[in-house]
Amino acid sequence: MKILVIEDEPRLAHNLAKAMREDGYVVETADNGAEGLFRAENQDYDALVLDVMLPGMDGWTVLDRLRRSKRTPVLMLTARDHPKDRVRGLDTGADDYLVKPFDLSELLARLRALIRRSVGQAVSRWEIKELEFDTRARTVRKAGVPIVLTAREYAIVEYLILHRGEVISRTQLYEHLWDENDDTLSNLVDVHVFSIRKKLGADLITTRRGQGYCIE
Ligand code: CA
Repeated sequence: MKILVIEDEPRLAHNLAKAMREDGYVVETADNGAEGLFRAENQDYDALVLDVMLPGMDGWTVLDRLRRSKRTPVLMLTARDHPKDRVRGLDTGADDYLVKPFDLSELLARLRALIRRSVGQAVSRWEIKELEFDTRARTVRKAGVPIVLTAREYAIVEYLILHRGEVISRTQLYEHLWDENDDTLSNLVDVHVFSIRKKLGADLITTRRGQGYCIE
């Protein structure tokens, strides 16, 4: 999952990005509204974390302009716990908001819920044949036995499950699960899928020739 954090306070932006990366997200940051809007309009993020108080273009304006073209889920960060702000946020098209200061674990939980809702998934656990996935604990069991996946393998499986039934192209997987600066050999999606199939079974992920991968 690729997240864009638009936040001008360097320490907060750093801490947010660090916590999210530890939670398995690919994170990009922007320290002002104009750059954040440009990135959000031109790339497909799985969610945005958007501060209200930003230099130049504020968070409300970013959200308002973004909503003219995109439905990317947005979690607003507001410093003012004021009912008018909440109403304004929801009116402008925010999907959720948190009042600063907030607990990092709460932000991560809200983000997970936001992403699930945005793809029409209300639950955080899935059972597919003999496999059980728990996206909250980030664990996979096969016939009750825990299976260890690498962070990358887990991210691929989670993305395909969240978009279950859809054919996902390799390009889409790269865009959502890899950092733009990361062009090492570990990028080879096919190698990871091969390894996932060895661990979880050959029939979990279907290959659609010329189109991509799918979990039915
Ligand atoms: Ca700010």
